[in-house]
Amino acid sequence: MQRRDFIKITAAGGAAAALEGCGNPDHHLIRFIPEEDLLPGIATWKPSICTLCPAGCGTLVRVMQGEAEVIRNGQLGILKMGLAKKIEGNPAHPINQGKLCPRGHGELQVTYHPDRIRSPLQRTGERGSGQFKEITWDEAIKQLVSQLSGVPGPSRGWWAMITSPLRGQRKTIVDDFAYALHGGHFEFEFFDSALPAVDLGQANYLLSFGADFLGTWNSPVAQSISYGRMRKGRPGQRGKFVHFESRISQTAASADEWIPSRPGMDGVLALSLAHVILRDKLRSAGSAGGAAASIDGWTQGLPDFAPEKIEKQSGVPAATITRIAHESAANAPAVVLMGDSAAAHTNAVFSARAVNALNALLGSVGKPGGSAFSPALPMRGSQSMQPTSNLSHREGPGSASFAMFRDMVTSTSKAPQVLLLHNANPVFGSAQGSQVRDLIAKSGFIASFSRFIDETSALADLVLPDHSPLESWLDDALESGSAQTVVSLAPPAMAPLHNTRSMPDVLLDVAQQLGGDVAKALPWKTYDEALKASFSELYKEKGTKNAKDADDFWSKAQEQGGWWSADEKPSAPASSKATASPAKYTEPQFDGSADDFPFYFLPFASQMFYDGSLAHLPWMQEAPDPLSSVMWGTWVEINNRTAEKLGVKMGDIVAVASAHGTLEAPALVTPAIAPDVIAMPVGQGHTSYTRYASNRGANPISILAPMTVAGTDALAWAATRVKISRVGEGKLVMFGASMEETPKDLKHR
Ligand code: SF4
Repeated sequence: MQRRDFIKITAAGGAAAALEGCGNPDHHLIRFIPEEDLLPGIATWKPSICTLCPAGCGTLVRVMQGEAEVIRNGQLGILKMGLAKKIEGNPAHPINQGKLCPRGHGELQVTYHPDRIRSPLQRTGERGSGQFKEITWDEAIKQLVSQLSGVPGPSRGWWAMITSPLRGQRKTIVDDFAYALHGGHFEFEFFDSALPAVDLGQANYLLSFGADFLGTWNSPVAQSISYGRMRKGRPGQRGKFVHFESRISQTAASADEWIPSRPGMDGVLALSLAHVILRDKLRSAGSAGGAAASIDGWTQGLPDFAPEKIEKQSGVPAATITRIAHESAANAPAVVLMGDSAAAHTNAVFSARAVNALNALLGSVGKPGGSAFSPALPMRGSQSMQPTSNLSHREGPGSASFAMFRDMVTSTSKAPQVLLLHNANPVFGSAQGSQVRDLIAKSGFIASFSRFIDETSALADLVLPDHSPLESWLDDALESGSAQTVVSLAPPAMAPLHNTRSMPDVLLDVAQQLGGDVAKALPWKTYDEALKASFSELYKEKGTKNAKDADDFWSKAQEQGGWWSADEKPSAPASSKATASPAKYTEPQFDGSADDFPFYFLPFASQMFYDGSLAHLPWMQEAPDPLSSVMWGTWVEINNRTAEKLGVKMGDIVAVASAHGTLEAPALVTPAIAPDVIAMPVGQGHTSYTRYASNRGANPISILAPMTVAGTDALAWAATRVKISRVGEGKLVMFGASMEETPKDLKHR
């Protein structure tokens, strides 16, 4: 314990007077009067929402009386208050039913992190230098209002807000704010949040094309629960699971069969399975409805996809394709998933259509044991909005992708005059991140709502620190994980520790100060007032059976952690009509020639860090990866036979080079990856993200090519080729210090 800390504690304990002779009076902390009644030693459990990934699991937070160092009215002091001690899953919540993944437990550390921003900050040094001084909220809001009051305008240009993908009333508030003030709302994400909900619990056969549904894809806790039911929840009936991917993920390790197919061959394999089902008359061509009509050659029985032709292309034996086609058709309900790497190839749109058609042929869309879509919600902001490239001609509020922001800046050579950032780190999470950094740095004025300084918020002129999720009102309108309609709601589980404010509250305050259209569009004084209004709408449409009036509905939702419908039947997609032109197979494109860059490069979502946004949490750094057991670092997965040829041993430092950059990291030699594939977890390699994540490991995104999925602006992050070479001896930090011996004769394609 340092001297400063000792003096703080004793001052707070009332012994300061006795120590005045030897302590600095500036260090004495005042004791605030408690703001709430709490019984010492008695815990209360308060509903909340996990915000650490898009799944939106419901949580319960254990709150007990404790003493904390807090800031009140700009004054540092000690307060006896309710403090969050533990997070568990909310058993009543339909998505996660009382369970959490390891990341969810780590949310506690967001609140107590020693590097949290404690007060509004104003830049004092060069942009990006990390030099700031503390200012008051009044000064901060005044600056933001002044910057926004002049845009857009002929001499001031345009303005934009970049956030992580938002849902519920947070999205409504940001969309309305941006639309009313003629700005643009752009959402940034590295891994796509996915749809639909999957009813694995009633499925008898499951085919996955690269979806890590038990680890990081879509709604992993909900899927883990229903996967458990599929395997063990029905006496005498155990569903079979087959996984196609070129490496063994946490999910692939649970499969009955792992089939290491070539990267980008997912659509081809789906249609080859469909070919066998049609050829052997296991289903009729018409049974797939409109989804099948969107595939070229369907009515002719997909002659180009005979297993014998596809074997060479995909690396999967024809006999295996034929057998799996027969098994899936004979074991209804059978469901097919596609996610992660399969959706990150240049031909992913074709693959998605092929997988949809196979699902339709197997009869699993909108049926028990299949895939389903959550019903639309009768609330403002719950409908998806059409993105547009022209901000001044939009028909209504909505958001567009970060790629569109990038295009707008590069095509017009005009960066926004004002840029707001919330919970998005595109400098870390974009291919060619240094170019993104330069592009963002050209903005006239940057304000960030970040809780921590990361690579993007380091560029801010003004930092308006957000509450932690446990200190804030939260809401969410779920789109996946359950066939029920689910709207999560949570009041703050504890009072704020620091001089922070929640992002929606700041926007509402700024809207009122700006006046005019934006004040009319957002008439609420606070975020909870806006939430109450939206729940009043929901009550009129859906909630009259659950509560005696709108106030009762609102109170019950707060106690329960939200509102959800009674069991509903799964629904099929809104339109199953054929698309205009049937999809034809397109080869996946890869950046870099096979001669110069002989390996496919496969980044993957880390179980602990997700997309890298959780690398600042020490529990996540300390937790061993479930497959490799690596802690506090990163690794490069190399097949054992490939490693032998290259003279690489476990733990050696290797250089991985693409046409866009080189990184170095220790090798993890394993048979659990195809010989022509090199894989790396995303998450480490931050240059600026608190004491725990900065300058630790390497970032695979930094060497990716800026390839996109054809027909979209999504990054094709599995479309880069690399070469590798041994640099020298190194070390992997692993739980238990090593992996178990692996058999040398494991067969690969
Ligand atoms: S899956 Fe894990 S990280 Fe994601 S919301 Fe649920 S508990 Fe949180």
